[in-house]
Amino acid sequence: MVDKKWVYLFNELDQAEAYVGGDWDRVRGLLGGKGANLAEMTRIGVPVPPFFTVTTEACNAYLAEGQKYPAGMWEQELVALEKVEQASNKKFGDPSNPLLVSCRSGAKFSMPGMMDTVLNIGLNDETAQGMARLTDNERFAFDSYRRLIQMFGSVVLGMPDEAFEDPLEEFKKEKGAKTDTDLTADDLKELVVMFKEIVRKYQGFDFPQNPIDQLRLATEAVFKSWNGKRAIDYRRAEKIPDDLGTAVNIVTMVFGNMGWDSGTGVAFTRDPSNGEHKLYGDYLLNAQGEDVVAGIRNTEPITKLGDVLPEAYKQFLEITDKLEKHYRDMQDVEFTIEHKKLWMLQTRNGKRTAHAAVKVAVDMANEGLISKEEAVLRVTPKQIDALLHPQFDEASKKAAKKEGRFFASGVNASPGAAVGQIYFDADTTEKMAKENGQAVIMVRPFTKPDDVHGMLAAKGILTSEGGATSHAAVVARQFGVPCIVGASSVRINLTTREMKSNDIVVKEGEWISVDGGTGEVYLGKLDLTVPNLEEQTELMTLLTWADEIARLQVWANADYPKDARRARSYGAKGIGLCRTEHMFFETARLPIVQRMILAETSEERTAALDELLPYQRADFAGLFEAMDGYPVIIRLIDPPLHEFMPDEEKLFEEVITMRCKGETKGLAEKEKLLASIRAMHESNPMMGLRGVRLSIYMPEIVEMQVRAIFEASADCTKAGVKVRPEIMIPLTGTVNELKWIQPRLEKIGKKVMEEKGINFPYKFGTMIEIPRAAVTATEIASLAEFFSFGTNDLTQMTFGYSRDDAERNFLIKYVEEGVLAKNPFQTLDREGVGRLMRMAVEDGRKARPDLEVGICGEHGGDPDSIEFCHIIGNNYVSCSPFRVPVARLAAAQAAIKNK
Ligand code: PEP
Ligand code: MG
Repeated sequence: MVDKKWVYLFNELDQAEAYVGGDWDRVRGLLGGKGANLAEMTRIGVPVPPFFTVTTEACNAYLAEGQKYPAGMWEQELVALEKVEQASNKKFGDPSNPLLVSCRSGAKFSMPGMMDTVLNIGLNDETAQGMARLTDNERFAFDSYRRLIQMFGSVVLGMPDEAFEDPLEEFKKEKGAKTDTDLTADDLKELVVMFKEIVRKYQGFDFPQNPIDQLRLATEAVFKSWNGKRAIDYRRAEKIPDDLGTAVNIVTMVFGNMGWDSGTGVAFTRDPSNGEHKLYGDYLLNAQGEDVVAGIRNTEPITKLGDVLPEAYKQFLEITDKLEKHYRDMQDVEFTIEHKKLWMLQTRNGKRTAHAAVKVAVDMANEGLISKEEAVLRVTPKQIDALLHPQFDEASKKAAKKEGRFFASGVNASPGAAVGQIYFDADTTEKMAKENGQAVIMVRPFTKPDDVHGMLAAKGILTSEGGATSHAAVVARQFGVPCIVGASSVRINLTTREMKSNDIVVKEGEWISVDGGTGEVYLGKLDLTVPNLEEQTELMTLLTWADEIARLQVWANADYPKDARRARSYGAKGIGLCRTEHMFFETARLPIVQRMILAETSEERTAALDELLPYQRADFAGLFEAMDGYPVIIRLIDPPLHEFMPDEEKLFEEVITMRCKGETKGLAEKEKLLASIRAMHESNPMMGLRGVRLSIYMPEIVEMQVRAIFEASADCTKAGVKVRPEIMIPLTGTVNELKWIQPRLEKIGKKVMEEKGINFPYKFGTMIEIPRAAVTATEIASLAEFFSFGTNDLTQMTFGYSRDDAERNFLIKYVEEGVLAKNPFQTLDREGVGRLMRMAVEDGRKARPDLEVGICGEHGGDPDSIEFCHIIGNNYVSCSPFRVPVARLAAAQAAIKNK
């Protein structure tokens, strides 16, 4: 039997590949990201100091076997060491020509700073002298030696950092040295003696002089560091599995601190902040790697390296170019130059800002380095989102935290950053914004549809209650207003006009900063950076490519022409939901709506509706014009009627006050109004008289709406606009509801077309937001020409969770405790709600093969949910205008990933 291979030499990448079956991802899994890339660089002829890698499998076996090296591993490590000696022409522990190595961790995914590294292994009393002789640099040799003892002490022997640092500070003071570099060779020799003494005192044994012991213990320490607290916390945060293990890389040391023909540096092959195609980085002459990172000395820009070490720089340019072409992505490299000889110590795909991610992806596709599909996959939906909303400056956020200006946090309902003065009701918010031109943040316990004017005027919204699909969240996303909901630590006192959290009180009119992307609230003003979509030509290009690739179309939820225009400019190919009830709340219309609701006779109701009709006709005409040529889905009235009426409690208070004061003028009207509102009261209005039920109960309203839609369509057609109206009936649960209402409405539509002598294409369809509708989709599709999944209600009704309350009660805990993997109001629950949707698409198309299917719930803008809609065969997703670009990218990514 062949012994298991635990150790791979720098030139054994082929064997590693063969072992895992050729897949590069699995090579990284075996050798770690760093080890795999070092081996790959070696293979393509890039100068890398000779090294070997102990596999992650060895680490896992070590941890599983109660911290014992698996059989054969150590022997293989010793054999590999010999090969490294041969390749480097040096010998481990030989004072006349000592080989020194570093021992570095390297997991599959980079975990910066989370695990351990020991440098300069191989130094002892004798080899240190040898190094000094060989390099003719005593200072360098003993500085390296004291660093080894220090690192070994803390990393391998687990001694506290202060054990070395405190005496070092004391020693420097004694010697009158400001920094480490002021210490002389003799000082450092003294320090080595001191440090060895410290080890003996702490541990009861000597610092190991045998390099082989150093190597064995250091390897073990790196294995153990996989389960250190830092590493575990990092894995939790980054969702990296615990069972990957870390590899250990033993790499020949090369030194950038051997004089002024040596140096070290880090560089990116493109600018990681703006993506520009030019080398970006720093270097230091006569220095070691950590000096560059620690910023002890001022570094030089990489482009200047050519002036001092032209040969090495020329080679560096060739290598970085080669690496970028080889990996077909921007690289982040570390290098060292030892006596003019260049060595590459690391390469990996560089982290970058959202802006750089888009530019690099588009540029690389244009350069022919990657395909358009790869470019689309290189950018995350989150990055697109970040490019479209104003952002807080990270430094400004950090500073605010330091100054104790963090106030509260809640659900990150609508991304973007906003700074403004707070006001506690919609009217004041609007007034302060419009009349005084103030930047305003509206703060409410929760919002209702009649707060919309305040929400529109506000720069940001903060509520102490509600969740991701609560009214505030839905509307805010639609309008692109940054919004945080459910900030439960915030107590709002509407009487004293102040809010309080963590014992900090903020009064009306004071400034706060709201980060809708992270859900954080700060006191005072944070600095903003404002992006501009039109100027972002690379982003526009990327999204055009996304449209070519995607099968799903992206439509938008928009109620007003200005939102429709924005949606179109962001690339929407239709309106997937116009919530007509929002139009009823406008100041001029609400009294008419209320009159219509309270009407006692059919004549009174018709008169009020006749007044509303021209308003609605104009609303719809505006939408058709904005979306010329594209479909516009208009949903007939959905919410329960009491939402249009004055607040019952407030009215009751007024009535009581009038009665107590003996005021009679107007009292009878108020009492009558109160009685009517009370008569409308329902314990569970979300499941009550709304949607199609309301249409059957009181058909006049929707009859008016359909007339307005068809009249507007006819007028627009005459004016040369290409209209494609689609009338959507909400909250259907049984086909009989459609059988009752749809023919009446179609009749009105046909009549208008006859009256106007004009024809245009139109559709009647329904929302699927009640489980029964999904289950009986074949029957429903016998009448409905299109389905649109209202996944806000469908999620609410499938789970039986209130969409308005669940997130401030149990739902967040459910997610934290893992009872639910994700908040189902943000990301579609594929197994439950999704199963109903899949069934509805399949069964619906049995009755009507060309059934148009979309989604208009909040999930329509969520990338994971968009992928699911692609998989089940939706025609489009519809989301708020500001999420359209994100959805376009997500739709393309879904198509690529599910080919
Ligand atoms: C839905 O329920 O998903 C939907 C889009 O309708 P609304 O949010 O208006 O209830
Ligand atoms: Mg709904």
